Amino acid sequence: MAEPGHTIHPVLTPEQIQARVAELGEQLSRDFQGEEPIFLGVLNGAFIFLSDLVRHMRLPVQVDFVRLASYGASTTSSGQIRITKDCELDLTGRCVLVVEDIVDTGLTLHWLAERLRARGPRQLKLCALIDKPERRQCDLHLDYVGFHIPRGFLVGYGLDYNEQYRYLPGIGELHFGASEGPQGHERRP
Ligand code: 5GP
Repeated sequence: MAEPGHTIHPVLTPEQIQARVAELGEQLSRDFQGEEPIFLGVLNGAFIFLSDLVRHMRLPVQVDFVRLASYGASTTSSGQIRITKDCELDLTGRCVLVVEDIVDTGLTLHWLAERLRARGPRQLKLCALIDKPERRQCDLHLDYVGFHIPRGFLVGYGLDYNEQYRYLPGIGELHFGASEGPQGHERRP
């Protein structure tokens, strides 16, 4: 399954992921009771997580997506990020849950949350399947987290390396040959 020079060490099985996503769906259904929240997925990485999550919701949910890109090789500064596909629903007065695949430095989600708050949602909550809190570079509060995984470059269940491995049903740590690596975990294209 791995490309030549790559090795993938299993970290989360499909069963572990599905069980945790079901728990998150239960928790979110309780917390948003009486509301019709907007689940705003961050493309591309969150597409599988979001589609599994909404199927565990016991209340009506609207779905939209944003897509981000960063200038340069890595997200060392929040000034390098831009929106390449914006959300199309009106967020004014709505309960919004941002659904992200993985939070590393936190700069991307921090940047996005500030821009979304300016659109006047009644409530803006942040959800990430994976949190790497050890690498945080800003003050970011995540309301919902699937798993805390301190380090390693992870692929599978929507997470890619150069657009590879998103399709894998579990999550693994990608190890590289001597001449290759993710260079500080650069993000989306
Ligand atoms: P940050 O929180 O550093 O601003 O950026 C988070 C983004 O970096 C994620 O949405 C993802 O695109 C990328 N990223 C960070 N860590 C990993 C990882 O372990 N695996 C993959 N595939 N992407 C990662």
